[in-house]
Amino acid sequence: MLTGMQIAVIGGDARQLEIIRKLTELDARLSLIGFEQLDHAFTGAVKEKINEIDFSTIDAFILPVAGTNLQGQVETIFSNEKVVLTEDILASTPSHCTIYSGITNPFLTGLTTKANRRLVQLFARDDVAIYNSIPTVEGTIMMAIQHTDFTIHGSNVAVLGLGRCGMSVARAFHALGAKVKVGARKSEHLARITEMGVTPFHLNDLETEVRNTDIIINTIPHLVLSAAVLSKIPVHTLIIDIASKPGGTDFRYAEKRGIKALLAPSLPGIVAPKTAGQILADVLAQLLEEDLKRRKENKK
Ligand code: NAP
Repeated sequence: MLTGMQIAVIGGDARQLEIIRKLTELDARLSLIGFEQLDHAFTGAVKEKINEIDFSTIDAFILPVAGTNLQGQVETIFSNEKVVLTEDILASTPSHCTIYSGITNPFLTGLTTKANRRLVQLFARDDVAIYNSIPTVEGTIMMAIQHTDFTIHGSNVAVLGLGRCGMSVARAFHALGAKVKVGARKSEHLARITEMGVTPFHLNDLETEVRNTDIIINTIPHLVLSAAVLSKIPVHTLIIDIASKPGGTDFRYAEKRGIKALLAPSLPGIVAPKTAGQILADVLAQLLEEDLKRRKENKK
């Protein structure tokens, strides 16, 4: 239970609703910032404006999956209010206050470091990232179906990266009957790709390997689909770039060549916000309970 905990949930999409539901069920008191257009009310959760909060009582902040942008602004789907996380806000919280976010960026990392507050990145956890890869894959399949006039079955699909998402994407497209090849740079990844029954290739050979593809799914958050690589792919190839913003594709050059290249962020929040929210809610509940227990023990 989270009885006695005061938590500020700031912004986000429908995934946050599952988190709010779970934390109120566990008896936490919630301040909801950036939710004034949300029709639903939750017992134990109060909608507030960021300038109305007494931050000295806040034990934890829950940010959306993306955290903040590089100026500290938090995305708020259920509000027109501009919500910005500042150093002053963090400085006025108790020293044990923890900031939970899906991912971080230089701004958020710098802000929490300066304020000396603990930042927990939920997606740095393998369990969260692997569970979350399930709705991500479903969203990727949805995009492939929506943006092609051929079946996935029988098509040549290149997946770039064999991390938590790359592995799930490769497995699912293979199971749907696509001819899947996966590009990676580590020998153990190339071995795993072979074990999975799909075709491995080294990313050094990307320019050659993309010459015969119908769909490329990038999961690498670095510029891998450069102009040089894109100049080699067939014009009909669909690129679905699921890596975090700005993705790993030279979108300008893709457009110039007439290649359809789509940056596809937040797929779990689009195709399965309930499941994606429950994944986050379950792990947050566990982490907050541990925080509370630790604080109680320290007080003894
Ligand atoms: P991950 O487990 O860290 O995998 C990343 C992969 O990229 C690894 O195979 C890694 O290989 C490779 N990589 C990283 N930097 C590289 C570089 N400079 N050159 C070549 N390969 C490199 O991450 P993940 O959980 O699979 O997530 C992948 C990306 O998708 C992330 O950006 C994540 O934020 C994003 N994501 C998006 C959605 C969405 O809805 N669009 C959903 C979930 C995740 P090495 O081991 O060799 O470094």
